[in-house]
Amino acid sequence: MPKLQKIFTLEISPEQFLNNCSPSELKEIDLLIQSNHYVKRMESQTCSVCGCSDYDCRDCMQKTGKPCYWIEPNLCSACAGTIKEIENES
Ligand SMILES: [Zn+2]
Ligand SMILES: [Zn+2]
Repeated sequence: MPKLQKIFTLEISPEQFLNNCSPSELKEIDLLIQSNHYVKRMESQTCSVCGCSDYDCRDCMQKTGKPCYWIEPNLCSACAGTIKEIENES
């Protein structure tokens, strides 16, 4: 039997999502958001140059072919690399 695979992507804002949650679901979200996993996520560093974070590094992956790491607070290795290359050329 041939298989048909479809992937649906729905784009909604966090606010729209919350507006559609029932009170008990909101309580569950409240509990989840206070758990270590999400607290850590909220405190994740963000690169001040490209805006990537520990959780969204797709742009760096496209640029350098590998995920970045933190060179300095709020400066990722992908951006540090481009800064160095410019310095070497001069
Ligand atoms: Zn960066
Ligand atoms: Zn990155």
